[in-house]
Amino acid sequence: MKGFAMLGIGKTGWINKERPQCGPLDAICRPIVLAPCTSDIHTVWEGAIGERTDMILGHESVAEVVEVGSCVKYFKPGDRVIVPAITPDWNSLEAQGGYQMHSGGMLAGWKFSNFKDGVFGEFFHVNDADGNLAILPEGMDPVAACMLADMVPTGFHGIELADVQFGDTVAVIGIGPVGLMSVAGAALRGASHIYAVGSRPNCVQLAKEYGATDIINYKEGDIVEQIMEKTGDKGVDKVIVAGGDNDTFAQAITILKPGGKIGNVNYLGEGDYIKIPRVEWGCGMGHKIIAGGLMPGGRLRMEKLASLISTKRLDPGKLVTHRFEGLEGIEPALMLMKEKPRDLIKPVVVI
Ligand code: NDP
Ligand code: ZN
Repeated sequence: MKGFAMLGIGKTGWINKERPQCGPLDAICRPIVLAPCTSDIHTVWEGAIGERTDMILGHESVAEVVEVGSCVKYFKPGDRVIVPAITPDWNSLEAQGGYQMHSGGMLAGWKFSNFKDGVFGEFFHVNDADGNLAILPEGMDPVAACMLADMVPTGFHGIELADVQFGDTVAVIGIGPVGLMSVAGAALRGASHIYAVGSRPNCVQLAKEYGATDIINYKEGDIVEQIMEKTGDKGVDKVIVAGGDNDTFAQAITILKPGGKIGNVNYLGEGDYIKIPRVEWGCGMGHKIIAGGLMPGGRLRMEKLASLISTKRLDPGKLVTHRFEGLEGIEPALMLMKEKPRDLIKPVVVI
């Protein structure tokens, strides 16, 4: 079968591989909708997780099940499913301990396009199918549902990590597709002020639609000064980091109130350290908590997030700005993600 792969750091191309084998708990799927992720860019062009050779890329998809293992109870060939980016081993000790995303070791629940071939092929393999797949609800647009694979659960996880409460003031640093879902998540969780930091006009427009009360353009001045001014020098209760670089933490800590929490979902692809400014961190005593995490996967979570689309509480389909057709659309969609033209939010490939 054909797949679009990372050939090595900085190199991509089409390769041919054997179709994956289906174990007793597994499923083999055929993609229906695919999306590239900024994480694929960190992985290939920054070598952020180290060298990988001939590894099929991609971890965001809606798919059709073509084969299931003998022990799979809830899925059968022909089912249309949402496939989360994170597919843990549900019987691992880490999953039992509440951290399914690290089943088998740190970040090891993230298997597609990290430890095994991803979804950018004619077929792909899903471990622990009963725990990891979710049925695409009848009538749901598979393009919008594809945003449930990664953008929605990651953006929302930033909100969970920062523990956003009713009436909180929240800064969301970065309003690409992930941060936009953090803006939507903050609004759903009852935040009062949502300060959305970004510059692309499309993203700014959508941030307002998803509930941002204030837009902070980091290209038009220091975000610390802008947010401190808007909050009367108090800062915010919670910060979600969904963009920026290693220096962004210094800004996030500075704008956070004592007792506040930072929820980082940004994939830090470069450098050895992040910056924590000593004085702004209360000389180590400021009760300013930094939490960072990989999105949780799982059937239950996917079904719950899908229900937000069904009940029209959330429309992640608005993130999609570019569409490609057929498997051959994967390469231009990925390149678009790499180049990030100003009118891009999220591309999809409809197979
Ligand atoms: P984008 O590149 O589309 O968005 C990044 C955002 O950050 C943009 O709004 C950009 O602004 C803004 N930004 C860039 N530089 C700065 C800066 N110096 N200060 C403030 N804001 C800045 O990324 P995605 O939304 O696709 O992904 C966000 C991150 O989440 C990525 O690192 C990705 O790898 C990661 N990720 C993490 C996952 C997880 O499980 N934790 C899963 C999926 C993705 P502008 O408007 O100017 O472009
Ligand atoms: Zn991703």
